[in-house]
Amino acid sequence: MVRDKEYNRFLVESIDPVVKNSHPLAKIKTICNTVAMVNRMRANKSHRNNRRSHHALVAARVSKCSNCSAPHRCHTVCMNCGYYNGRKVLDLAAKALKKTKATASK
Ligand SMILES: [Zn+2]
Repeated sequence: MVRDKEYNRFLVESIDPVVKNSHPLAKIKTICNTVAMVNRMRANKSHRNNRRSHHALVAARVSKCSNCSAPHRCHTVCMNCGYYNGRKVLDLAAKALKKTKATASK
């Protein structure tokens, strides 16, 4: 490590004032630990890319409605007819009527 003595002393004293009056070997140890800690925190390209390998988006799964055979998301009510798993869950006609009434009153 190429650094001048003054800079090393400044580094040690700015980090820990207790180390100021300690043994020279302890000072060296502190410097080494500090520099190594900073270096360890940086992830290289391989680590970064490994982490991001799980970030890809996955397309939503689509299945066919058993009532009207329109495509809909799995485990979700069909928004074309309001059926889920062979029975009517949503009254889409009433919903549409309510929406048109709301927009007409505005
Ligand atoms: Zn349907």
